[in-house]
Amino acid sequence: MSTHFDCIAIGGGSGGLAAARRAASHGARAAVIESDRLGGTCVNVGCVPKKVMWNAAHTREVVERAPDFGFDVALNGFDWDTLVARRAAYIERLNGIYGRNLDKDGVTLIEGHARFVDARTVEVNGTRYTADHFIIATGGRPSWPGVPGAELGIDSDGFFELGTQPRRAAVVGAGYIAVELAGVLAGLGTETTLLVRRHAPLRNFDELIQEGLQEALPEHGVNLVTEFTPAAVERGADGTLTLRAEDGRSVDGLDTVVWAVGRHANTDDLGLDAAGVAMDDAGQVPVNEWQESNVSGIYSLGDVTGRIPLTPVAIATGRRLADRLFGGQHDRRMDFENVPTVVFSHPPIGTVGLTEAEAQQQYGDAVTCFSTRFVAMDYALSEQKPRTRMKLVTVGEEQRVVGCHVIGVGADEMLQGFAVAVRMGATKRDFDETVAIHPTSAEEMVTMT
Ligand code: FAD
Ligand code: NDP
Repeated sequence: MSTHFDCIAIGGGSGGLAAARRAASHGARAAVIESDRLGGTCVNVGCVPKKVMWNAAHTREVVERAPDFGFDVALNGFDWDTLVARRAAYIERLNGIYGRNLDKDGVTLIEGHARFVDARTVEVNGTRYTADHFIIATGGRPSWPGVPGAELGIDSDGFFELGTQPRRAAVVGAGYIAVELAGVLAGLGTETTLLVRRHAPLRNFDELIQEGLQEALPEHGVNLVTEFTPAAVERGADGTLTLRAEDGRSVDGLDTVVWAVGRHANTDDLGLDAAGVAMDDAGQVPVNEWQESNVSGIYSLGDVTGRIPLTPVAIATGRRLADRLFGGQHDRRMDFENVPTVVFSHPPIGTVGLTEAEAQQQYGDAVTCFSTRFVAMDYALSEQKPRTRMKLVTVGEEQRVVGCHVIGVGADEMLQGFAVAVRMGATKRDFDETVAIHPTSAEEMVTMT
């Protein structure tokens, strides 16, 4: 095997694979170095297994509501083992597809842990490889709190290894992962408490979303506890866990504590010092708008940069960098504005652009917001009447839409199209002039007054 390449991506996750495959499509000799399973976080312990679990929890909810429509069905049970085994088989198929795609595209896969020896060389299992361009795409891993007994809990990777369904679980954290895993657990029937250390989960989201989520969590079986700063985890004589807070409060009788308190970059064993690559205080690799680190020929992208850690962002950044380096597209680079995102809570949250607070900070009095709350027709025949919430944030006399926020059934599938409109600079009038699709929830987005 050759040991010199035009381009080596370190990390076979979303960003590294995308960059190497695109580089190869432009004729570059490209390689990917991966120390674990191909596909990285998203495929193995992130988006994919999470969405399978979300779909399972959603299915349970739909079955439970079937009698509202006259169906004579009962939920007789749920087999965690079956779900987990089928999920694992699906992921294994994806790992295989990723490997075959590399073969098809002529990208060399080097299996093992990469460490820089100098700015032009990495070592993997004792073999040295050189490249004209190195792309650091090593992603991140879960952070753990430094409290006594923390090791009695699990992180999101551990969540996907659970062999049995937790009976009574606490999820600690306030970001995407905490909200999603708490929702999945509760949706599948685990008694679930979500513990956040401030006043609310998803504090950076628009206020309307926060309000909707706080209403939805208990409706979907999640017990939300706020202002709870974890201080210790203890195992009692009966084997159950107690999670204690700094203020003396506690949650006991737990069989599972899930830490979802953030993630940090995989850079500690990468030999960045030997290559002279600078890191920031969080261990991330900072880059300029062209993904260039402080060392010429070494780039970084995806979660390891800490910039919008989402799979499609890592993929788009990798492809654009390869287009620039090997495809003759000299101005091609990632645009980090207006990146749409969905939190797979129950119900889901979709958001793109600025929150009302961010817009006000940026544009002051020029901001006008439109919002609505309604019960989606999915619940027309149900006793339960959960509310969908939507908001458009606009700016200036022409009311250009700079933010679009939804929490409610279908928000996950609804948002992509609206993200195109926001990106194109659509105004409120463009929304209003668009004929509604009836009866849907999405039509409310073009009929708001
Ligand atoms: P990764 O996918 O993490 O890939 C990095 C790879 O580098 C890994 O495979 C690792 O093994 C390898 N590696 C690290 N160091 C070395 C080394 N020295 N040598 C060789 N290989 C190395 N994003 C979404 O857009 N939608 C979602 O629904 C979503 N859900 C998520 C759910 C969870 C629970 C988590 C944890 C994340 C989720 N994300 C989601 C985020 C998404 O997974 C990441 O943004 C994405 O995987 C980042 O891609 P990446 O290429 O930067 O890194
Ligand atoms: P986040 O950084 O989003 O959230 C972690 C939060 O946990 C912090 O913001 C903080 O919130 C809270 N926290 C931090 N330390 C502690 C502590 N010691 N005790 C209690 N709470 C603490 O991280 P996640 O790990 O949830 O997600 C990482 C990223 O992965 C996301 O930002 C997202 O980009 C991506 N992701 C995307 C998904 C999707 O697209 N659907 C799904 C999952 C992840 P506070 O300050 O409010 O207390």
